[in-house]
Formats: sequence, C-alpha cells, structure tokens
Amino acid sequence: MNKRIKYYCFFVLIYVFIIFLSSCNSEINEIKKEEDLIKYKYGYDESKYLFEEKKVGKGDTFGDILEGQGIDYPEIYKAIEKTKNDVDFRKLKIGKPYTLIYTKDSIRKLKAFVYQPSIEEYSLIQLRDSIYAYKDKKERTYKDLSASGTVYNSLYENLGEQGLEPKIYVDLTNRLADIYAWTIDFFRIDKGDQFKVIYTQAFVDDTIPVEITKIKAAYFLHKGAERYAFEYETDSIKGIVEYLDQDAKNLRRAFLQSPIKFGSISSRYNLRRRIAYYGNRIRPHKGTDFAAPVGTPILSTANGTITEVSYTRANGRYVKVKHNNTYTTQYLHMRKSNVKVGQFIEQGDVIGWVGMTGNTSGPHVCYRFWKNGIQVDPFKQKLPEAKPIKESLKKKYFSDIVLIKSELDSVIIKNKTSI
Ligand SMILES: [Zn+2]
Repeated sequence: MNKRIKYYCFFVLIYVFIIFLSSCNSEINEIKKEEDLIKYKYGYDESKYLFEEKKVGKGDTFGDILEGQGIDYPEIYKAIEKTKNDVDFRKLKIGKPYTLIYTKDSIRKLKAFVYQPSIEEYSLIQLRDSIYAYKDKKERTYKDLSASGTVYNSLYENLGEQGLEPKIYVDLTNRLADIYAWTIDFFRIDKGDQFKVIYTQAFVDDTIPVEITKIKAAYFLHKGAERYAFEYETDSIKGIVEYLDQDAKNLRRAFLQSPIKFGSISSRYNLRRRIAYYGNRIRPHKGTDFAAPVGTPILSTANGTITEVSYTRANGRYVKVKHNNTYTTQYLHMRKSNVKVGQFIEQGDVIGWVGMTGNTSGPHVCYRFWKNGIQVDPFKQKLPEAKPIKESLKKKYFSDIVLIKSELDSVIIKNKTSI
C-alpha cells in the first residue's frame, strides 16, 4: 500500500509542479513533454517492466500460472496468505484477461500479477520485494462523440449500422427515447426522419468504451419539424437537470407518449372500428393497443395513485391509475401486475408486464385514457407540459447553448447509403 501512496503523491507533485511552471515561464512545454514520457501501467513504469497480456485458460488457477513462471509453491502460499483479505484469486474465470509484469533484468522475473474480471476492474498482487495486493478500477477518460443518421427502419437499427458497439448503441437509443419520450412518438417515427446527437463516452485504456455518461445535445427532424434537446441545469441548488428545446421549452410532459418503451401500435383509438369477429359490426375501440412481447414492462405514463388492480373476462388483468382530478389511465391484458390499490407511483414506474389475459388475440397492452371522466384519444390531446424554465434563466440559457448548438449543427447527417 505504501508504494501506491508514494505513487499518487508523486503524481500530485508533478501536477503542482506543472501548474507552477505554466504560471511563470515559457519553457514549460519542453518540461511537460519529458514528464509525459514516463508512462505507467498498473503503477509500473512502462520503460522498466515488461507486460505480457494473457487470457485465463480452461482449468487455469492462480497457483498454476505462478508455478509456470518459476515461483515455487511455498512462495505462492505465503503470498496468498498475506493478501487474502485484499484480493481473491481463487476463482479465475475462463477467458478473462490477466497481465504478467516482469522485471527487465538479464533473467526476467515475475514482479506482479494483474487479473481483470471486468473491463474496468482489476486486482493486482506484487510478488517480489514487498508482497502486497489491492483491487482498483482503471482510470476513466471521457470524450465527446457524435452520431447521426437518417431513419430507414428503426432508430435502433440505424445506430447499429454506425459501427457502434452493441452495448453502446442500445444505451444511446434508450437515452434518446427517454429524452424525446414526451414529444416524439417513437412508434410513428417516419422513414426519412433525421437525428444527430452529441454524447459523452467514458473509456478505459483510452480506447475501450465503458458507458455513455450523458447526452449533451440532440436533434430530431420529425415530420418536417426540428426538435433540439439541450441538457441544462434548471435548478443548481437541487441539481435538477432537464432537456430543453431551442425555444427553452421543457421536453418533458406530464404524460409519457406510450406505456412501453419500444414496440408498435397495433390498433388506435377508433370509435368506428368494425371487427370481423363480431359480424363486421361497429365496435368502438376506446383504447390504443401497443403490441409487445409478453413480459415487456408496462410503465405508468404519469405520476398518480393506483385505484384498481383487478381482473375481468374482457380486460384480463388490469391496473387503473388516477393522476389528478382531470386524468385517469388504464392498462389491460397484463400477465402480472406490480402494484397495489392506494399505492403512489411515479411516471415511468413499472406497474405490470405485457401479457394476453382477457379478450385478446396476441400479446399487447391496451392503454385507455380518460379526461374529465370521458374516454379520449391521448394522441389527440394537448397534454400539459412539465414546469417551464424560469423567465430569469431564459436569457442565460440562450447564450449558454450557442456553442453546443453550433457543434451539433456542424455534425453531418449520415445517410444509410454512406455508412
Ligand atoms: Zn385495446
């Protein structure tokens, strides 16, 4: 542990040193470069040690690997005993990477062993001079990146075609869907819709992507209308961050557009629907059906209180939510519900899962919407907006977004053909 502390102190000193230099003379660039040349990997000077990267093979144990490096069993035992409270190498997983660090002497000797159970985490044991071990996370670096495209199928497929890692584009798609959940109907996304996004991506080892940490700005051209989204702190005291559009309007609405994240509308609100099953007679459909696989989470579209959790032959298992004196919603044909009568729930909370209980020919959720006691089509309603930004903050907002907006505007939209 002492060596690590020394190592960190060394860096802090260099840092202070550089700040000091940069404030007083012009030779700093040269000096900075020299300091930068010392590169460390897992705390070991890269010019003084050799690093060998390997992967755990079938049946490999910590003891086997070390024995194969000429360390005999009593020594291995001593090392394990001494460090057993700090690290645990008893269960190495097949396929996970490990690194052997050797001294550059005439006879190369194994100095340390580093096991990497995940992209970010590692466990290190130093085997010579002084024996010690610790677990740590690799240092992250952050980069702002952009993605863009013209939608030909779904947003999801489109981002996948840009060569992004699957985990990253699933994350990006979900975040975009969250930002625009209130303002763009992702079930009605049109061929030819265009989007751009600037996001911050965390990396380890400079090149291995870990996760997206935030969406800084986005742009959607949907049905000919431009809709920007800028991440903005609207309340610095409470630390509230919202997405606002180019007119400083909150993108959040009191209601989500849909009770499921992804899927498709299979039947809309239609008072003149004719159904073959009923001899082609008019059977009004006062709900919107969202088809999705059984087990898909059903989200409450707004904050509210659960007023019914029940089962009928027609509705199957269903949940009803009272949002306020004006609005009530209902969700039918659930496989299972996740709430109790009287429970308060927030927008986006999972209230049940898609099923096919009751009168239904396939898995879907029938979403019903009441305004002042009358069933209406939620897609035809002008739904209330979330709290608008304070007037006093507007001017600052418009000047704060100038730079990021011009960055976003300069992103060239990729067409499917050019990918
Ligand atoms: Zn329905």
